[in-house]
Amino acid sequence: MDKKNMKQTAMWGFGLLMMLMLFNSVKTVPVETEIPYSAFKARLRAGAVTEVRVRPDLISGQYRDEKGRVQSFRTLPLPDPKLVEEFEEHKVSNFQGERDRSGLYSFALNIGGILLFFFLWWFFVIRQVQVGGKQALSFGRSKARIVDEKKKKTTFEDVAGCDESKEELHEVVDFLKNPDKYQKLGGKMPHGVLLFGPPGTGKTLLARAVAGEAGVPFFSASASEFVEMFVGVGASRVRDLFEQAKKAAPAVIFIDELDAVGRHRFAGIGGGHDEREQTLNQLLIELDGFEQNQGIILIAATNRPDVIDPALLRPGRFDRQINVPVPDKKGREAILKVHAKAVKMAPDADLAVVARRTPGFAGADLANVINEAALLAARKSKEAVELPDLEEAIERVMAGPQKRSNVMSEKEKKVVAYHESGHTLVAKFLPGTDPVHKVSIVSRGHALGYTLQLPIDDKYLTSRGDILNRMAILLGGRAAEELAFCEITTGASDDLSKATAYATRMVTEFGMSEKVGPLSLKKPDQEIFLGRDLNQGGGFSERTMQMVDEEVKRLVTDGQTKAREILAAHRQILDDLAQKLFDREVLNGEEIDAILLAAGA
Ligand code: ADP
Ligand code: ZN
Repeated sequence: MDKKNMKQTAMWGFGLLMMLMLFNSVKTVPVETEIPYSAFKARLRAGAVTEVRVRPDLISGQYRDEKGRVQSFRTLPLPDPKLVEEFEEHKVSNFQGERDRSGLYSFALNIGGILLFFFLWWFFVIRQVQVGGKQALSFGRSKARIVDEKKKKTTFEDVAGCDESKEELHEVVDFLKNPDKYQKLGGKMPHGVLLFGPPGTGKTLLARAVAGEAGVPFFSASASEFVEMFVGVGASRVRDLFEQAKKAAPAVIFIDELDAVGRHRFAGIGGGHDEREQTLNQLLIELDGFEQNQGIILIAATNRPDVIDPALLRPGRFDRQINVPVPDKKGREAILKVHAKAVKMAPDADLAVVARRTPGFAGADLANVINEAALLAARKSKEAVELPDLEEAIERVMAGPQKRSNVMSEKEKKVVAYHESGHTLVAKFLPGTDPVHKVSIVSRGHALGYTLQLPIDDKYLTSRGDILNRMAILLGGRAAEELAFCEITTGASDDLSKATAYATRMVTEFGMSEKVGPLSLKKPDQEIFLGRDLNQGGGFSERTMQMVDEEVKRLVTDGQTKAREILAAHRQILDDLAQKLFDREVLNGEEIDAILLAAGA
């Protein structure tokens, strides 16, 4: 036990002692329960009341309950002139009048209570905050916030810009509405749903909407609250949370920041963290103990799906994972519309303009923009929010305290639009490549944009030509930036490393370089070729190594030349496509084809 723990233990001991003393002092005063006047009369008529003291403002006394125990009660008097007659009739052994308690006496009583309250408050809250920013109230109890979705209903209409995520959650809503139906059909419902995506994209809102749509209670807690205190508390909080929810089933349990407990067990500093691990284990126990017909769905959210312990993702646990992405332009407009409902907007305040100016903003940022704009408009005593207010609000949110890393400037957005257009066009003009399914400049994870190609058939063998094409496509992004801006950015580094890896494997694994010949320079069991490993007893000569380097370089450079040629030859189309992509942010296969067609390609 270290020094800090000792201090804490001492403090708890002291607190406990205080509590005991308090209870003792309270125990000597009989505890009076307040009952309605009607209940008092009923007991009186039943002959259970033994003793009554009547004051002008209060009637108190004692009665015997069903088990014969003496209970103290009090009640507020009503005008009842025959009361004394009834006392006599029902054999109340002792009744008496009483003067109003002196003002001073009750005053002192009240002050005492208030002082006591402040002392306890100081003791538990202030002291704890000083001791380490931790809270000690209600330890062991789940601090879950319960929202009864019957009262304040959040629905899918309140969530915009993530239609695919909503689509996937519809089934969960169905299940919550009709758990028995699913049970009868033998359908397996997911126990847990993991929502992942950057902060502020509406994960909490979605979970709440699931409860709202299904009309079931919503229990929410943050995983970081589970692990904040003493060992063992997290686990008992989890247990408590599930118990509460089971009583209210069907219900939705929402756990935010799942990564706080669900982090991969061996990730992070120092290996194990006892408290976290116990909490995680308890969570796994609860998840595994779910019965199909219990009608409870656990929804968790994280913005770090990559660090979640794989144990949590196994079937029967969080077996449904739903991406909640940063919204594209259309999505942003829809989100703005949702939040604009709450404020008065001037007719000229075009939300499409706002959507265009806010690439990279998440739902929370957009809600903030509307909020700020309303404040600005109010400060200027305006009748309604106008476009300039919205524009100023965008600036404020962008510069604001929670500046988001995924917010892009116009210039950056333009560069990314050219970069992705480059990939797309090279893919389009190289024969035999997979069709481009989608191109997007809405950032996803680390990538600022992406070009998605989907093969028509599954392929098991890849030809030399295929790989060369892929390399050219990869290098097309950088080539387009070069063409349009005469400079290159760091955005292509991932493309370059992929292209280099392809070239390296062609030379060292697939025997696809004539110069090096059909050799495999890969040692068995060795995943990736590394120059260093090759040196150590691989048995390859210095000359071979040098040749490998040259060949890799040649292949990559060839790819780059091919990409440059294609893009230079179709410069106009590149500009058109980049412009369109800049405007729309996402284009699907048909839209890309339409642009190519319009340009006469
Ligand atoms: P997360 O849980 O993903 O961090 P939240 O659900 O807590 O994000 O979002 C915070 C707030 O931002 C919400 O209460 C809502 O006002 C707004 N918001 C976020 N995403 C959306 C969205 N897709 N549609 C409408 N409002 C949103
Ligand atoms: Zn790229």
